[in-house]
Amino acid sequence: MIPFNIPLHVEKEFTYLQQVIRNKKVSGDGEFTKRCHRWLETKFHVKKVLLTTSCTHALEMAAILLNIQEDDEVIMPSYTFVSTANAFVLRGAKIVFVDIRPDTMNIDENKIEAAITERTKVIVPVHYAGVACEMDTILEIAERYKLYVVEDAAQGVMSTYKGKALGTIGHLGTYSFHETKNYSCGEGGAILINDSRFNERAEIIREKGTDRSKFFRGEVDKYTWVNVGSSYLPSELNSAVLLAQLEQANEVNAHRNRLWGKYYELLVGLKIGLPHIPNGCVHNSHMFYIKTADIDERTRLIDYLRRHGIHSVFHYSPLHSSEAGKTYSRFSGIDEITTKESERLVRLPLYYSLSIHDVERICKLIRCFYKGETT
Ligand SMILES: *Cc1c(COP(=O)(O)O)cnc(C)c1O
Repeated sequence: MIPFNIPLHVEKEFTYLQQVIRNKKVSGDGEFTKRCHRWLETKFHVKKVLLTTSCTHALEMAAILLNIQEDDEVIMPSYTFVSTANAFVLRGAKIVFVDIRPDTMNIDENKIEAAITERTKVIVPVHYAGVACEMDTILEIAERYKLYVVEDAAQGVMSTYKGKALGTIGHLGTYSFHETKNYSCGEGGAILINDSRFNERAEIIREKGTDRSKFFRGEVDKYTWVNVGSSYLPSELNSAVLLAQLEQANEVNAHRNRLWGKYYELLVGLKIGLPHIPNGCVHNSHMFYIKTADIDERTRLIDYLRRHGIHSVFHYSPLHSSEAGKTYSRFSGIDEITTKESERLVRLPLYYSLSIHDVERICKLIRCFYKGETT
């Protein structure tokens, strides 16, 4: 059986975990968290990064930082994970969904402007599969209407748009280090702060509404409650695992790219949809998906692969059709693409311990399926 996902694990994690336990500094913001911050800031040329307990929490921090209030509107695609919406709904916002592009499954930048009202505060582009949204257009719209841009780059660690790392382009960006993502510490995330006006309050929100970060730097002689906040910092155990993985990121990324390339090479020419990478985008091979003719064909393909020992999955029932979506959101214009395309998509196994040989086996089965053969 080839499982759909096996979380990344590198040898160095053991060494770093031992150090954390020996040093008896297990709570947050110790040596390993700081080393992760430095690694991310240096690698992606961003002034300030703070690790969080998840990407969900990084998005919640963004909503607090931007002072999202009751009835503010936030624009995003409906084809995304629940957290993109929930983080803003928790502050009382109304979510306004915009249709996606069929080629990348990302928000259609040309349909954003029609969704803007006097209440709009934020645009949240989600870089699906680690392939960038059309950020130049999105930033231009945001500037014209004085809106904030929060990039949900949960899937985009190590991807770029016109040379800039995803997550570093909008006012704020968020990463996920959940075990389904390219680099993981089980549960974890980060907020990237590209506008330094947010630096100080971000530290306060993350540290229970206190100025404890300033205290640890010796900038104040005691720390107190200064603003609203919560507890969004991960334990050093998580950071130690993450640092070990980040230090091997180039190698991991190169192998993922080889697997992705092999899938593409062996599946091109079949009567299926394949991912599209626009000019100017370099992606991190977070995901390889194909698109079947329709939902029935998808059900049959997933079943066929399972019977032959391959676990493939689909995801994202559009949020606007969900129970909560009906209460907290509206869809701007008509849903031409979102539902139709989401029903065609199948995700194939892609992870560091997958081999080229595994990909060959999977592609052979898919080719058989489309020839009507049942070997
Ligand atoms: C995984 C994911 C999240 C949530 O990440 P967590 O770290 O699990 O909270 C949010 N948005 C998108 C697009 C994701 O893929």
